[in-house]
Amino acid sequence: MSDTPYRPPSDLLTDKVILVTGAGDGIGLVAAKTFASHGATVLLLGKTVAKLEALYDDIAATCRSEPGIIPMDLATATVNTVEDLALVLLQRYGRLDGLLHNAAILGDRVPVEYYNIEQWQTVMQANYHAPFLLTRLLMPLLRAAPKASLLFTSSGVGAVPRAYWGAYAASKYALEGFARLLADETDTTSNIRVNIINPGATRTAMRAAAYPGENPASVKPPAQLMPLYLYLMGDDSEADHGFTFNSDLSKQPFNQT
Ligand code: NDP
Repeated sequence: MSDTPYRPPSDLLTDKVILVTGAGDGIGLVAAKTFASHGATVLLLGKTVAKLEALYDDIAATCRSEPGIIPMDLATATVNTVEDLALVLLQRYGRLDGLLHNAAILGDRVPVEYYNIEQWQTVMQANYHAPFLLTRLLMPLLRAAPKASLLFTSSGVGAVPRAYWGAYAASKYALEGFARLLADETDTTSNIRVNIINPGATRTAMRAAAYPGENPASVKPPAQLMPLYLYLMGDDSEADHGFTFNSDLSKQPFNQT
């Protein structure tokens, strides 16, 4: 992506079916709405159904396509739950053009020796194991799309784990490893491009929980990230495979970081 602002056409994602996890709030909510406003059929996966329904109503009232709602708690999702989802999506849509792994739990920021063990497992399940399960079982749908974008959301503490960030840092580090493994496997063997996005400090509930003393107005709103998210979901990024993208539009190849 160049340094000049990306200006996507309003029909960039027409006819694309894109699943967004954690679509009920924060970056995921804005991404899902933005994808829909650029023509995509968005599948809204999240934990709190009322939030998904509110977004559904908003998209249905303002966009051309009809979204879908997928209530799912990623911390408890099982192989069976995700297999059922894959079957429903296959029957209803036949393919997935985009999968944005966005949902995550922050968890506590305490030394590992004091970290609550149940919470560690919950965070690893939601942030790492569930994206693996979804990817593993939705792969046939991604393969069925002519050009599919598989996007993992990481964090600065995922690239370089930082003291006291506990399971969140470990889960993001594992997620990055999984994305790299997958990028290597799909390189030249499929229509699926695999990238990581590190959104950086963004004004959401998670950011406020991590930095309670910070003035929220001092960090960028999710809307500011949307040119990058649109670029990565649209066909303009079809040649980008195996990169970590940052909010300043810079990117590093996986094999150089
Ligand atoms: P928020 O906490 O604002 O939103 C997270 C979303 O994920 C919510 O919709 C939430 O649903 C959903 N979610 C959480 N747990 C589950 C679960 N178990 N099952 C299903 N859905 C779940 O986070 P952000 O928007 O800030 O973060 C989005 C992504 O960006 C995350 O991957 C985060 O790690 C990453 N990131 C964010 C940064 C920031 O500064 N904001 C910086 C770096 C990375 P519900 O509302 O129902 O709980």
